[in-house]
Amino acid sequence: MIKYICRHCNDLETETSICPVCGTRTSLLASEIYYCKNCNSPSFSEECSECHSVCEKIGSDLRPVFAQERLLLEVLLDKPMAFAGKSVWCSASNTYWIDGKKLRVNMAELRKQDPAAISAKLQEYELQNSVYVRDDKREELKERWQIATITILNTGKLHCDFTYLDEGQDIEEYYQKWKKQYLK
Ligand SMILES: [Zn+2]
Ligand SMILES: [Zn+2]
Repeated sequence: MIKYICRHCNDLETETSICPVCGTRTSLLASEIYYCKNCNSPSFSEECSECHSVCEKIGSDLRPVFAQERLLLEVLLDKPMAFAGKSVWCSASNTYWIDGKKLRVNMAELRKQDPAAISAKLQEYELQNSVYVRDDKREELKERWQIATITILNTGKLHCDFTYLDEGQDIEEYYQKWKKQYLK
């Protein structure tokens, strides 16, 4: 069952994408997230809404990993560009999903590496990676962006916002925010 939440009505939970009280568009309340191997894409229901195949449950929190963060991950793992062009997502507790395959990492351990060396590696691959940074902005990837704003509500529940990441949102802005949060 897909649940929605209305932010205009004090986080009211609804079963419809339009709030029955105030009539505005609600946001998805994600409890479980699945992965469709066929579409190589996350799904909010066990049955993929695109191809109707049965999806694998992958967790309760998922955010897209854009090209810059992907490169950082690869550099930390000493595998620059290894996941370039793949569908890369991150779920809670050090778990990444690369084309639907789980990759567990120990971020705390990985971040103990020499920052200067990491930074130099990032610079070394920056140009090569810029193609993928540009790709993140492509029209057909918009849908991916739309689940990018996953936040935790006052109630402690996860919340995916479909309405904020369409036209105006800049990927660079998203990345900067992410950096602040994860790269302290
Ligand atoms: Zn409402
Ligand atoms: Zn599918």
